[in-house]
Parts: sequence; C-alpha cells; structure tokens
Amino acid sequence: MRKQVIVGNWKMFKTNSSAIKFVENVDSKIQSRDDLVVGIAAPSVMLSDLTKKAKNLKIAAQNCYFEKEGAFTGEVSIPMLQEIGVEYVIIGHSERRDIFGENDDLLNNKVKALLAANMSPILCCGESLSIYESGKTMDHVKKQISSDLSGVSADDVKKVVIAYEPIWAIGTGKVATPEIAQEVCKGIREHLASLYSQEVADEVSIQYGGSVKPENIKDILAQSDIDGTLVGGASLVEDSFLGLIK
Ligand code: PEP
Repeated sequence: MRKQVIVGNWKMFKTNSSAIKFVENVDSKIQSRDDLVVGIAAPSVMLSDLTKKAKNLKIAAQNCYFEKEGAFTGEVSIPMLQEIGVEYVIIGHSERRDIFGENDDLLNNKVKALLAANMSPILCCGESLSIYESGKTMDHVKKQISSDLSGVSADDVKKVVIAYEPIWAIGTGKVATPEIAQEVCKGIREHLASLYSQEVADEVSIQYGGSVKPENIKDILAQSDIDGTLVGGASLVEDSFLGLIK
C-alpha cells in the first residue's frame, strides 16, 4: 500500500527562530500514521534544530550533493543529513533546475546516492508553460523520469516519491485542474510500469505540486493517482499548513 505524502517546501523563507516556533506549534497537531507522511522541507541551516523538535512531522531537506565528502564548497552531503535524522530530500525542484542549472545526470547521481543511504528522494518533474501549451507534457516528464531514475532498481524505486509540478502552476496561483494533474500522474504511473512493472508502479507515491491550498487540496487528493502534495506558499503559515492536512 503506497503512502500519502504531504510536504511543505519552505524554499528560502523563515529564519531559525520562526521555523522552530512553527514546528513547536504544529508538530503536536499532526497525527503520526503508517500510511501518511506529513513533512516540512526546510533550509539546511535549520534542519538540525527542527529534527530535534519534530516528533510527528518529518523534516526534509530541499537539496543535497551526491558525493559523501570533499572539496565542494557550499554543498550539503547525505551523511550530514542522515546524522541529524533527515529521511526525505527534495531533488530536482524546478527552481534548482532552472536557476541553478541542475541537469538530469546530476539529479540521477543524487537519487542513486540517497537510495544507497536508504533515504527517500522527493523527485520533482514537470513542464514549462510552453511545453504544456505545445501538448508535449507527457514526453517531457517521461524523459525526466527515465533519466533521473536511470540505474535505479525496482526495490529502490519504491522509496522514491515523485512530485509532478507543472512549472506554470508553481507560485503563480494557477493550479492545474485536478483532472489535468490526475492525467499526468496517471501517465507517470504508466511510465513507471513500463520501466519496472505494474506492481512496482502501484507502490510509488506520486505527489502533485503547484498552488495547492487548503481550499483545493481535497479535490486534488481525491484523484486516484495522486498520493499527496508538495506545497510551497501555503505551507509557510501555521493555520494554512494545518488546513492542508485536515
Ligand atoms: C513548490 O515550491 O514546490 C510549490 C509547489 O510552490 P507553490 O505551492 O507555492 O506553488
């Protein structure tokens, strides 16, 4: 049975003190369940304090590097994250791809390194507005997934959470309709079935992300191939975050 995974992506917002206050206020209101993961992906400087505070929330990272250690100024390694209790790491967010030039080869290395450490990548994929308008969404997303999961075994891929995030819906207030989101998430599952098997594809949690709010999350989660959400803006305020998981 695949898990429902709802994760807030704080991006480069909040300071340590405001992040701690948020987790202190919210954590006890989250129910810890085997079939539901509720998490916050926080800036790396806050992760150590937040993992100490969180009992029910999973504290996730927004990025990592794939080498264990070395001369990689500014990067954060997987052993560093693992030692402080981080289990989930967002990989390949469109902001990492577009602003910081991360490509599928690099992302594939990150995915494999996380899985080798028994951690779960939240692997983002999604198309730009021009790709969406040219009707090539599925080709684009399938290419990203094939490259990013290249060399990943069937057993390991079950630990990957895939986040479908149409770039045109991120932070824009334009949400893909639940039907559009379902269509693409279903296509992703079919693609996983062709790369692995239907049994494996049925175990992979697939999130939708893009302007999700308390007001629209119910319709999105009602879709059969959507197993959770990755949420930016609406995860920053306590009431709105809690509204997502009601
Ligand atoms: C995101 O940052 O992954 C995201 C989906 O942002 P927003 O919910 O603000 O569109």
